[in-house]
Amino acid sequence: MSNNVYAEIGVSDKVYSLGEQVLHELHDRFEAIDQTAEYNQAKVIAAMQKNRVSAACFAATSGYGYNDVGRDTLERVYADTFHTEAALVRPQITCGTHALAVALSANLLPGDELYSPVGRPYDTLEEVIGIRESACSLAEFGITYSETPLLPDGSIDYESIRTAIHPNTKLATIQRSKGYATRPTLSVQQIGELIRFMKEIKPDLVCMVDNCYGEFTEKIEPSDLGADMIVGSLIKNPGGGLAPIGGYICGTQHCIDRCAYRLSAPGLGQEVGANLGLMPQLYQGFFLAPTVTAAATKGAIFAAALYEKLGFRVVPSSAEDRHDIIQAIELGSEEAMVAFCSGIQAAAPVDSYVTPIPWDMPGYDSKVIMAAGAFVQGSSIELSADGPIRPPYAVYFQGGLTWSHSKLGVLMSVQKMLDASLISL
Ligand SMILES: *Cc1c(COP(=O)(O)O)cnc(C)c1O
Repeated sequence: MSNNVYAEIGVSDKVYSLGEQVLHELHDRFEAIDQTAEYNQAKVIAAMQKNRVSAACFAATSGYGYNDVGRDTLERVYADTFHTEAALVRPQITCGTHALAVALSANLLPGDELYSPVGRPYDTLEEVIGIRESACSLAEFGITYSETPLLPDGSIDYESIRTAIHPNTKLATIQRSKGYATRPTLSVQQIGELIRFMKEIKPDLVCMVDNCYGEFTEKIEPSDLGADMIVGSLIKNPGGGLAPIGGYICGTQHCIDRCAYRLSAPGLGQEVGANLGLMPQLYQGFFLAPTVTAAATKGAIFAAALYEKLGFRVVPSSAEDRHDIIQAIELGSEEAMVAFCSGIQAAAPVDSYVTPIPWDMPGYDSKVIMAAGAFVQGSSIELSADGPIRPPYAVYFQGGLTWSHSKLGVLMSVQKMLDASLISL
């Protein structure tokens, strides 16, 4: 392919050629990702066909939203795609943390214990649970919390889990993605084994999976292997980049009924909640989600392979199987983080002229740098990178609605590193 357009946009021949060289070795990986996308695409289409999705589903509703065919059908589409009895998919769920907070507070009562068998959950859940004190936390309502850390090699500590589960243990929360931690992401298979093990000890234990960033990276989801609820954000994978807001909870009828009562009000449940005209984006986004997730996964693997070649430590490595779309790259210095992020920013379709700089973000103990030029604000299924300015100076790179954009972002990041003399080619 002629790389004139790359020269025009600022990627030198040297960087472009290095990229092509690395890509050559990724052929088989990319083929496998395309197969997963093809499988999941068929799964989504089958669910849409089964539920007779039609133009009537795209109509806007307002007010109470009684008898909202579009909303109810979308929830059936999610439930059938993820093979669950029921689903709650709403623009009124404002983000992933909100969806998780609803799922937890709806299914835990005073005196119950919440248990994480895979170590400390995502940052924002600490206040939901009450690990960090907060008004309205689960702790304030008399719900206790315990956790079992992963073993030093990142594997599950089955022996400790056996003794940690007791009669009050009501709900286990399992986070699939590593998020911004350094542990490995769990595969759906690993999650399935963990659920089976815990339910042998306590058959009525409710198992919830924080599915954020994991959807459609594999052919099965945790709900296929025993999870009672899977929970995620629509401005990540399942929104396909088109959903402007929203969250989902898919699971057993019993759990979802309770979630709906918690989200709206006891007695109202899923019957209310106008769709505000967002149905076209939520349907089309879900339709696109398998291929968008594949594009993002390819970008992550390309970044891993390219930065490995340049001598940096990357997590996961370019050869490892993927169970989410997050790529960590340890760049070793603040200057390198700034250069990397300015490359991602310079490749964006929106706000490309902006220069990302480290800043003191509320709630963090070190400066944070973020690069994103997204159509939907804060969307992390779109190409983005961020990280705290502290050793090992790791950037977390994710997203890309198309593989071509992801590729451009990674090449541009290398170019900026080269321009700043932080690498040599
Ligand atoms: C993104 C994410 C969440 C929720 O984050 P929001 O920003 O509230 O959408 C929860 N858990 C994990 C693992 C995540 O990646």
